Amino acid sequence: MTRFIFITGGVVSSLGKGLASAALAACLQARGFKVRLRKLDPYLNVDPGTMSPYQHGEVYVTDDGAETDLDLGHYERFTGVPSRRSDNVTTGRIYSNVIAKERRGDYLGATVQVIPHVTDAIKEFVRSDIADEDFVLCEIGGTVGDIESLPFLEAIRQLRNELGREGAMFVHLTLLPYIPSAGELKTKPTQHSVKELLSVGIQPDLLMCRSDRPIPDGERKKIALFCNVGYDAVIPALDVDTIYQVPVSYHEQGLDEQVCRHFGISPAEPDLSRWQSIVERVRQPEGEVTIAVVGKYTSLLDSYKSLAEALTHGGIANNVRVKLNWIDSQVFEREDTVHQLEPCHGILVPGGFGERGAGGKIEAVRFARERNVPYFGICFGMQMAVIEAARNLVGLKGANSTEFGPCDNPVVGLMTEWLKGNMLEKRRADGDLGGTMRLGAYPCALRPESRAREIYGADTIMERHRHRFEVNLDYKGQLEKAGMLFSGMSPDGVLPEIVEFPDHPWFVGVQFHPELKSKPFAPHPLFTSFIAAAVRQSRLV
Ligand code: GLN
Repeated sequence: MTRFIFITGGVVSSLGKGLASAALAACLQARGFKVRLRKLDPYLNVDPGTMSPYQHGEVYVTDDGAETDLDLGHYERFTGVPSRRSDNVTTGRIYSNVIAKERRGDYLGATVQVIPHVTDAIKEFVRSDIADEDFVLCEIGGTVGDIESLPFLEAIRQLRNELGREGAMFVHLTLLPYIPSAGELKTKPTQHSVKELLSVGIQPDLLMCRSDRPIPDGERKKIALFCNVGYDAVIPALDVDTIYQVPVSYHEQGLDEQVCRHFGISPAEPDLSRWQSIVERVRQPEGEVTIAVVGKYTSLLDSYKSLAEALTHGGIANNVRVKLNWIDSQVFEREDTVHQLEPCHGILVPGGFGERGAGGKIEAVRFARERNVPYFGICFGMQMAVIEAARNLVGLKGANSTEFGPCDNPVVGLMTEWLKGNMLEKRRADGDLGGTMRLGAYPCALRPESRAREIYGADTIMERHRHRFEVNLDYKGQLEKAGMLFSGMSPDGVLPEIVEFPDHPWFVGVQFHPELKSKPFAPHPLFTSFIAAAVRQSRLV
């Protein structure tokens, strides 16, 4: 039997609801349950694919090619369960499906309304694509009280009625602010937030209370009394020094036990040793390396969430702390600034879009190549590496990407056709922007005796993509002659996937996003190898 846990958030946003949901799932998984995590987002975009990273943070891509909320990244990193298209939905998608159905005439003359038609569509989504999962955890985006989230709250209220207490549970995450002048943690915002939920017919079964300090017994009792839940169902969710501590910490506070009690099940104690050993490694590194991340959205770190995590995982694998030095690439477009990279043990240019800052990224690549500093280029970062090589090694001064407009040597060009399995995908230059990139997992064949082949220890790999442009094969011969090896190609040999310089200490550019698949308990081999190279570099400088 599949049980549903609905997680809402109150008081303020950014309480770490995604992380809390992922950590709860990890605890349940550690008790031997099969889990799945989902996110219901109240905004009107059909998916976050067209949103600026400043608005929304990173766009997380699933194997099956969905552009989703970054919380799905937390879900995967904490459970190892690959997310799917069916794990994230928005108001925009629900409405566009309902309206398409109305246009087809499928509602048979009915007046189409939020209740029941939109709420039915939400319920159908929540219950779709489930096999033998023991628990499906559904996080509702936004904060209780938002107008936008009302249809979702109504849908989960109805679902609870249909599934009963033994089939569904409401978890509400709130904040207890500390008021220094009173020297107290305040429970009133939590009380109000629960009242707000009650007004739409939802009585939470369990409260997770975020707090920066231990919650005194009196406050806990007060919350239980005013919010109509048991004392044991008020779970302190205290700040911790590393996110990997969250599952262990929530378990110690009784979170998963209370959830099991709600459903009337008493499984064995969870085995959280996986998390304990990660926390130990994070807290006691044997050294430190500094990696420069040269990008565009460096002022909002959520834009590179998975990347920052994957670099940390590379550190865990090498027993070192990875210090990230976020640099806006535009800095390097001014003269005499690139020397700022000198103290760094590795340079990474991540995914990106548009011309702004591209010149600075190319300068960073050049620095890494000429000074033998480990370089990792991801997606846009690979494309910039190819442009740099074409300009400075091959001598093609007009080398550029057609993403920025027409140019003399289009070493990176628009991808209009590619194979997805046996199907040919086609795009027009003037087509829609939403959901039309080359998205999701594609195979890549690795060249024998290349660094990539050695790192992966496999001949063929699957990695996730999100790009519209590709390295132009017409320039492969010239680039290879100049020393750049095309070490990974799509199996039909048409799309360059990995480039490297064999005579450089560590220089790898990949057209895909390996950071999306890295996990703390299974660091991605490319990140493990890159950080190992940075450790070697740190011994030189
Ligand atoms: N803008 C580039 C493209 O569309 C790179 C995309 C990316 O880095 N994700 O191909």
